[in-house]
Amino acid sequence: MKKFLALILAILMVCSLAACGASNDAPADEVKEELIMGTNATFPPYEYYDEDGETIIGIDAEIAQAVADKLGMTLTIKDMEFESLLTAVQSGAVDIVFAGLTVTDERKESVDFSITYATGIQVIIVPNDSEIASVDDLAGKTIGVQAGTTGDIYCTDEFGQDNVKQFANGALAVAALQNGQVDCVVIDNEPAKSFVTANDGLKILDTEYAVEDYAAAISKENTELTAKVNAAMEELTADGTIDAIIAKYIKAE
Ligand code: GLN
Repeated sequence: MKKFLALILAILMVCSLAACGASNDAPADEVKEELIMGTNATFPPYEYYDEDGETIIGIDAEIAQAVADKLGMTLTIKDMEFESLLTAVQSGAVDIVFAGLTVTDERKESVDFSITYATGIQVIIVPNDSEIASVDDLAGKTIGVQAGTTGDIYCTDEFGQDNVKQFANGALAVAALQNGQVDCVVIDNEPAKSFVTANDGLKILDTEYAVEDYAAAISKENTELTAKVNAAMEELTADGTIDAIIAKYIKAE
């Protein structure tokens, strides 16, 4: 009797293991791994909301989609404050940050960067009748910036915290410029162009404040993802995909 019970048990175990294996195998082929991208969608033409107000579009969204496609992953975009992005990628709340993000030595201490895919220039927006004509005129002026950006970091270092007013995004800084709360706004050139186009009476000074490289940020603990993303981005650079995406949003002057 004991032997018989043991045999039944053995048969039951083999059956359940087989069933288990079968049910595990089936969906594995269909379910794609998710790539969660963090961004701050107030930064045209790199990331901003489509007219429907729901879809995030732009250069970064399209490059990230092309990378995800190459890696056989699905892309999910999470919109958050610019200042929270690096913490989010460090904590694993997002896998990757694409946000017109400038490579800096300080940021390299907390995250790894992908290969660079674009150049950014910090420029100065002023009202048409401003007496500010170049970077040299910024001393003693009130400068509007997007909090946590390189524009914020450079201006705070150079002109002091008291002369820099931080805003949650570039559009709010530009609104403050229109209201006379700040004398100028220091921000990346491409969003600067769209803000100046959307607002009367403003211009961008010819003098460049800083020239920088944009790259994606990934957790230092996720070196495997960094290697895969870099390989994908190298292919997308070589076959012209990245150039084509940039050209779609930034018309040559
Ligand atoms: N390039 C700037 C930075 O990395 C601004 C980026 C942004 O505002 N999205 O700080």
